[in-house]
Amino acid sequence: METGSTGDREPRSRGWREQDDGVSARGLVDAAFRMLDGVSGEGMSVEELAALAAGLGRLQAKSDWLLCRVAQWAEDAAPGIDAGEMLRQATGLAARDTRKVTRVTEHLPDMPEVEERFASGDMTLGHAAVMADAAEKLDPEVVDSSAELMEMATRMPVDLFRRRTRAWTARQVLQAGTDILEHQRKCRRGSVWTDRLNGMRVFRFEMDPVSAGLVEETIDVRYHKLRMADAGADQNPNEVRTTEQRLADAFFEIVTGRDASTHLPLPDTAAGGGRAVSPAMMVVKVDLAELDGVNPTGQVEVIGAGPVPREVLRTLSPDTELVSTIFSGPGRVLWMGRKTRLANAPQRLAVAVRDGGCFECGMPMHRCQLHHAQEWRRDRGRTDVDNLVAVCPRHHRWIADQNLVVRRVGNGWQAQPRDGP
Ligand SMILES: [Zn+2]
Repeated sequence: METGSTGDREPRSRGWREQDDGVSARGLVDAAFRMLDGVSGEGMSVEELAALAAGLGRLQAKSDWLLCRVAQWAEDAAPGIDAGEMLRQATGLAARDTRKVTRVTEHLPDMPEVEERFASGDMTLGHAAVMADAAEKLDPEVVDSSAELMEMATRMPVDLFRRRTRAWTARQVLQAGTDILEHQRKCRRGSVWTDRLNGMRVFRFEMDPVSAGLVEETIDVRYHKLRMADAGADQNPNEVRTTEQRLADAFFEIVTGRDASTHLPLPDTAAGGGRAVSPAMMVVKVDLAELDGVNPTGQVEVIGAGPVPREVLRTLSPDTELVSTIFSGPGRVLWMGRKTRLANAPQRLAVAVRDGGCFECGMPMHRCQLHHAQEWRRDRGRTDVDNLVAVCPRHHRWIADQNLVVRRVGNGWQAQPRDGP
């Protein structure tokens, strides 16, 4: 990188910067490459390879942190420079990746704890970006000093961490008295237009997350029905739909009640008339203290959408099937012992309220299956709420394939090797 300046405005550090620019950057990279070229995982056990991968992850975090420093140095050297664009040209990264770097760079000075962990390779760029997003909605100091967020950042992969942090942020925003949902409801909008390039009609809707959650769940249920149907059909490539086509078909069928390819009325709506699927069920989780008035600031949460203001309870549509489950203390709610292997609907609800989605990746509850932590056949596990854990189909297979056992750890669940500690 040539910035034209030799860095007069900064105290000269005694590192590789001291040498001639071109040589220093290349010398550094050559040395790092020589070390990495010496690495071989041949003959290593899976545990050793996992440790190697973890080390490379830290190395990448460290390198990403340095990239953030480069962005900062560029801005210091040439005020007003578009550091993101400079990085994009220099590294070949996509614009959204370099934007992530510059967004994190911008927030790091206000978040010393995040900076320290990021700089020491203990936090990835992805995790730091999630923290930066939260800092844009809240006071950066609140984010930086949250032990809860730091603990989650250490334990969770970035995708799960992003979902949990969004819920955490929404909770903080509500506690701060900002009625963000009310504002989002006012901002709902829809529009329909024709794309002049291809003559296609385009529908666009924006709505608050609670309403959108119901729409998404409804479309998702139809989407999965279509996917099941497609998997059963012969695999003629002209007949199997793409993901995007299937999503458009699911939307069409729900709105019109007609089959997307034949335009004939769908059998299940022909009988019942009206709706293509049963009304989505919204699960609302309310603290006991909220209901009996002990703690009027207790939390109201819609499973799948996250925390909402308590006013939501009054504004739910009469079509919504509202189910409440109240846990008092560490909820021992419903037991069925070994009479039956399949969980009943109230048990499913209880697990939804407690887990809120797949314990491993946060996949929404309506996509999840219930897994016996102590397995039904193998461990003679019971069909009790405290032995049932929500898990998405992918992680259900993963548990079986990797021979893992799911154990209760603190307030959550963790998959561990069956023969492990
Ligand atoms: Zn999952």
